[in-house]
Amino acid sequence: MATAFPIALPVVTPASRLTDSHGRVIHDLRVSITDRCNYKCIYCRTGEFGAQYPELAITDYLRLIKTFVSLGIEKVRLTGGEPLLRRGLIELIEELHCVRTPSGGQLDIALTTNGHLLDVLAAPLKAAGLNRVTVSMDAVDAPTFERITRVPGSFKKVVAGIRAARAAGLTPLKVNCVLMRGFNDGEIEGFAQFAREENVVVRFIEFMPLEEGRLWTPEIVVSLSEIVERINRVLPLTPLAPREASETARRYTFADGVGEIGIIAPVTQAFCGACSRIRLTSDGKIRTCLFSQVEHDLYGRMRAGENDEQLAAYIVHTVQGKEARHHIGEPDFLKPSRSMVHIGG
Ligand code: SAM
Repeated sequence: MATAFPIALPVVTPASRLTDSHGRVIHDLRVSITDRCNYKCIYCRTGEFGAQYPELAITDYLRLIKTFVSLGIEKVRLTGGEPLLRRGLIELIEELHCVRTPSGGQLDIALTTNGHLLDVLAAPLKAAGLNRVTVSMDAVDAPTFERITRVPGSFKKVVAGIRAARAAGLTPLKVNCVLMRGFNDGEIEGFAQFAREENVVVRFIEFMPLEEGRLWTPEIVVSLSEIVERINRVLPLTPLAPREASETARRYTFADGVGEIGIIAPVTQAFCGACSRIRLTSDGKIRTCLFSQVEHDLYGRMRAGENDEQLAAYIVHTVQGKEARHHIGEPDFLKPSRSMVHIGG
């Protein structure tokens, strides 16, 4: 459902910044280019393959992304669903590589993937202009991994994908692991070793209530403090200073300085006050928060013939209404209308 349009639209100049009503500057755009996925991770999907929402033409994503960039977006992360399934991805990255920010800088282009097709695609993605990749990997033990993805042979493919990405220079290479008690919390120490051996930044993510089914409970969440305590017992950690205010991960290195891990704790240590993100779904709706109850139909306006200035004004107006914070764990918490795979993680 789109929000009501204001009577007087803000004046948008090329140098405008996207700032919300809480004073946060928005410079990070996540774009889902499909909600199809070739994995059926047990904590994300109910088990059915298939798209639920329409996809836009690649040229339409490009036009919308350029409009966001004209307003001050500096970083674009392509996601899904599984973005490597999307035909036209390489061409989209080639085009984005030529886009300049209002200050003349290069757009930072990143991608989040399950890594299944990365062994083949890492080099072409790098050549097209992709800067960095984050691979989702929820276990370092092959049988545990494949129990989660529900795809036989997926572990070997993802490890090959990680190595191909590193060889192609898609670095620093991040590997994200969503921890869930009783599913993969036995993997914490193994991941700490994996970070060191494979020269990747492993980031543990607290499980959020964004699944298609109903799995989430407060008890299933493995908290930041528990993760730190468990790694410290086998490999003492040293905290690293944040590089920027909007950094979501608490970063640590090991006592000998080799390797890095990060912990993203949206549940137990929410970082909404420093949020710099906005999302565009595969069907062209703006979501101002993962947990938004409303969506804003940017593509609908484009299809109706609005020009770039009108679309920019709509984005500025929409960002103004960004939620102050999420309400996970509170009595008034409502799950969003879309689950993570259909929003774009
Ligand atoms: N297919 C790509 C991938 O696997 O990275 C991109 C989409 S996936 C939805 C993006 C990220 O969201 C993955 O790292 C996944 O583990 C994470 N994710 C999915 N459901 C989640 C949840 N309920 N809480 C926290 N992270 C979640």
